[in-house]
Amino acid sequence: MLQQTQVATVIPYYNKWLDRFPDFASVASASENAVLHTWQGLGYYNRARNLRAAAKIVRDRHGGILPGNVAAIRKLPGAGRYIANAVATFAFNQPVPIVEANSARLLARLLDIRVPIDSAIGREKLWAYAAQLVPKRNAARFNSALIDLGALVCLPDKPKCNVCPVKKFCRAKNPGALPIKKSKPRTKRLIERHAFVVSNGKVLLEQSSARWRGMWILPRFETGVSDQPLYRSTFPFTHHRIAFVVYPRAKPNKISHTQRWFKSIDHIAMPSPHRRAAEALLSAK
Ligand code: SF4
Repeated sequence: MLQQTQVATVIPYYNKWLDRFPDFASVASASENAVLHTWQGLGYYNRARNLRAAAKIVRDRHGGILPGNVAAIRKLPGAGRYIANAVATFAFNQPVPIVEANSARLLARLLDIRVPIDSAIGREKLWAYAAQLVPKRNAARFNSALIDLGALVCLPDKPKCNVCPVKKFCRAKNPGALPIKKSKPRTKRLIERHAFVVSNGKVLLEQSSARWRGMWILPRFETGVSDQPLYRSTFPFTHHRIAFVVYPRAKPNKISHTQRWFKSIDHIAMPSPHRRAAEALLSAK
């Protein structure tokens, strides 16, 4: 949940998730729609799908209890090195390293790493260094402290070196210039056009098979745009800035197999830009 999202934003989603899914069995037996609906608004929906797939494996192969070793956790869908190690250290106090944004910045400065930390070489340096540092005992506390030190003291713009408890080990000559990162790809602009179709108090939606696979969106269309738009917004998506435009459309004679009429959109999984548009347009009717 915390990928590219701040803790304060995540907390209500996290609490809602735990209310709805208090254990692996409840996630495993839920429909994909229920899981995506509870996750909606957080983005990165593959994480929710992976969590559901992982919960099924935990239920079916591990008796509903998460295995405590890194190798077994890493075999679960969606669990890469960071997630597997973070779960192993925080849930099971395993002496494994973790590197995330805050500890990466801290380690890059401590070691004075002069290669981009988001390059393969930079990443491996950080992980190797973190592995050397992690103690056999109290690894969870150590890893937590490393993250907190990065988040609270070794700040991105103005590191508080004068109060830093590891200052005497720090090799950074110019901490403000570290860490080095690869230059980001330029943001591309895209326009996406969708239709608002309502008939007999029902709204037409289609199930996405692309970016928001499995979620319900306003039907797409690309041609014959002559009407005034009903709704406009913009949203970011990876390296894109998307202009999202919704046009009125009459009821079609026939709908495709991916489309369906909905009387209510309350309980279906919809990505935020589409939910906001649909709610605004339905309430204006
Ligand atoms: S001394 Fe400064 S740059 Fe070095 S780890 Fe501490 S806060 Fe970061």
